[in-house]
Amino acid sequence: MTGTVVDRELPSAEAADLLELTRDLVTRELAPRADKAEAAHSFPRDVIAHLGELGLLSLPYPEEFGGGGQPAVVYLQVLEELARGWATIALSTSVHVLSCSGIAEFGTDEQRTRFLPAMLGGATLGAYCLSESHAGSDAGAMRTRAVREGDGYVITGDKAWITNGPIADFMLVAARTGDQAQGARGISAFLVDASAAGVSAGAPERKMGFRGSPTSQVHFDSVQVEVDRRIGEEGQGFRIAMAALDAGRLGISACAVGLAQAALDNAADYAGQRTAFGKTIDEFQGVSFLLADAAAQIAAARQLYLYAARRKDAGRPFSTEAAMAKLTATDMAMKVTTDMVQVLGGAGYVEDHPLERYMREAKVLQIVEGTNQIQRMVIARSLRPRAQGTRS
Ligand SMILES: Cc1cc2nc3c(=O)[nH]c(=O)nc-3n(C[C@H](O)[C@H](O)[C@H](O)COP(=O)(O)OP(=O)(O)OC[C@H]3O[C@@H](n4cnc5c(N)ncnc54)[C@H](O)[C@@H]3O)c2cc1C
Repeated sequence: MTGTVVDRELPSAEAADLLELTRDLVTRELAPRADKAEAAHSFPRDVIAHLGELGLLSLPYPEEFGGGGQPAVVYLQVLEELARGWATIALSTSVHVLSCSGIAEFGTDEQRTRFLPAMLGGATLGAYCLSESHAGSDAGAMRTRAVREGDGYVITGDKAWITNGPIADFMLVAARTGDQAQGARGISAFLVDASAAGVSAGAPERKMGFRGSPTSQVHFDSVQVEVDRRIGEEGQGFRIAMAALDAGRLGISACAVGLAQAALDNAADYAGQRTAFGKTIDEFQGVSFLLADAAAQIAAARQLYLYAARRKDAGRPFSTEAAMAKLTATDMAMKVTTDMVQVLGGAGYVEDHPLERYMREAKVLQIVEGTNQIQRMVIARSLRPRAQGTRS
């Protein structure tokens, strides 16, 4: 796999080197292994360890804690390149980065100094535990409880759909410290070690796509955590979880753009070689317009996530723009991967080519980190007259 070299505007020579390093890694090591590992439902822990050694798992965090000190516009383009080669790797990286954000952005100096270096060092992987089987879109209805006992808390409950669930080393966990009637205001956030007594993962879900990425329930059976593992104040947990999702949605947008780019590259390559009626099929307008539309839609989605990322880097509100980017990029990836299967005809529908896998993988990006209906709700809320002026 070589694929299109995207002409990127990058803020520094260091960022250009990072993108080149990632492209090289994708071409040589990731893309050649993706098909086989996905078919075998096998998660490549060694690849994640290698990304950690290269510093690619902690790019958007401060260097003083072991991060890469890169702005979101650089981190996200690295993620996009990873997704172009192997979407499972990009998704795991994005979720890991999301799992570190609670401590990085809401932790005390003491918590950052104590926990972040190990979380960002590359040897450990994080999971983000918000959803429950009855509470996905309506995450504020969660039932997992954290009860104050002595110097700490005891966490009990079951989280669902957790990416990296069976393989994570640490978890950002949202749990109820107040009454159910308090809704989202009664939720707090905790950093929990996956090796703590009482933490266990269920069997990996049997998914339509992203089969190499393990997703499972995570059970908390009277798990004791010290009070210094609570992030922020009691009752701030939902805000912390939603702030993490704002940034995470940009990660999902970048994954969607990378996946769609891989589909386009693959289909354009095929269309330039496949002949029908004495011509290569890319000479037929019916095929070349599918490719042209895909190229235009990918470029537009890329610019939208970069726009939201620039706002984040500038310290401006970016919640609405992140929802717009996630909605646009993931709907685009679903359409583009479906259209690129069409370009290949019958060959697109079988496992000899990765197109059918890309199409299956695109589907879940419209669901995770807030379904696209939820993104529309976030955007619509910002349009109401009373929200004007506070709109991000
Ligand atoms: C592969 C995978 C990985 C995941 N990884 C994680 C993870 O790492 N951590 C984590 O915490 N969660 C994770 N999730 C959970 C994911 O965030 C939820 O699946 C998602 O938020 C939707 O929740 P739900 O599945 O319960 O659907 P529901 O909330 O039951 O929604 C069902 C349908 O109703 C729609 N709907 C619901 N409410 C409204 C409304 N108010 N207006 C309009 N439509 C509405 C939804 O859009 C959807 O179409 C993952 C899910 C999957 C499939």
